[in-house]
Amino acid sequence: MGARVIDGRALAEELKEQVLLEAKELAVRGIRPGLATVLVGEDYAAQAYERRVGRLAAQLGCRYVCERLPQEAEEADVLAVVGKLNADPRVSGILVLRPLPQQVSEPAIFRMLNPLKDIEAVHPVNAGLLALGRARYVPSTPAACFYLLDRYLERSGRLPEEFYSRSTVVVVGRSNNVGKPAVSLGFARNATVISCDVNTYRAGRLREHTLRADALIVAAGVAGLIDQSYVREGVIAIDVGINPVRDPKGSGRVTLVGDLDFQSVARKAEALTPVPGGVGPITDVWLLKNTVAAARWISSSWGSNGSPPAVG
Ligand code: NAD
Repeated sequence: MGARVIDGRALAEELKEQVLLEAKELAVRGIRPGLATVLVGEDYAAQAYERRVGRLAAQLGCRYVCERLPQEAEEADVLAVVGKLNADPRVSGILVLRPLPQQVSEPAIFRMLNPLKDIEAVHPVNAGLLALGRARYVPSTPAACFYLLDRYLERSGRLPEEFYSRSTVVVVGRSNNVGKPAVSLGFARNATVISCDVNTYRAGRLREHTLRADALIVAAGVAGLIDQSYVREGVIAIDVGINPVRDPKGSGRVTLVGDLDFQSVARKAEALTPVPGGVGPITDVWLLKNTVAAARWISSSWGSNGSPPAVG
């Protein structure tokens, strides 16, 4: 295996230092960023994410609150919580954790968010700005993918802007939270971008597209979907997938694996990210980076009478 493994944990530590500095600069001005999460139900992955960002907020000196609602909460209950957080001057960024229960409409909740506090860019205004290449906030997981790519390119002696303008970036997965914004970020870097989803796979055409990738971002949520037959020599591969799999030897242990068949892809890749320890740690820190940015935005636009900013 000649491929280099991109160490997301080490890069996340560096990013954390940077965010800490930004938070300290705000502290000098008497501003303390505040993150609020909204957790509806007891999804295991959402709870784990909530705990991680809560710990990180504390480490970075940010306020943190988690609003918990039961699985059977009505949409109106969730809207009321979001409305309360919108109006709370101590809260700069709001993360609505997925999944939401069936009776709660995701678009309705996202539309309720104050766009200045919408640190995952899920409000239509922020999603639109991102698609137009004028992002207010870059959502954390796709941001993490390009953060890893950009740092890797720089550290291997290349200028990211030169690399992207000559390269094909293939994104596998087209969700609103990962795949689509990753495509927009590729466009923003002047890359040629190809977007594939499950329909591409079902049509039997996934491989022909992934084989064109100079940089491959995989966010399908299918364990080991991409093996070496899907990639060309020298690809840089970013694995977003987090898939729990049971130990095949029957111990009952559950481990997390990505969408790349790591050992197989590593035979051909120039570099690739591991799972865990790749995209995930950067995603967590990026959320806090956006929280700090939100505190900065809000401090300059909050009404002098204490009213929350009204923005589109
Ligand atoms: P999602 O289910 O919302 O979307 C999955 C996308 O992949 C869809 O567009 C679907 O069409 C596509 N897809 C599914 N099977 C495919 C196949 N065989 N071939 C091609 N495309 C296929 O999922 P999501 O929220 O985008 O998350 C994707 C994965 O990333 C999941 O494993 C999730 O746990 C993980 N994730 C990781 C992080 C992180 O920080 N590391 C953050 C968010 C999501």
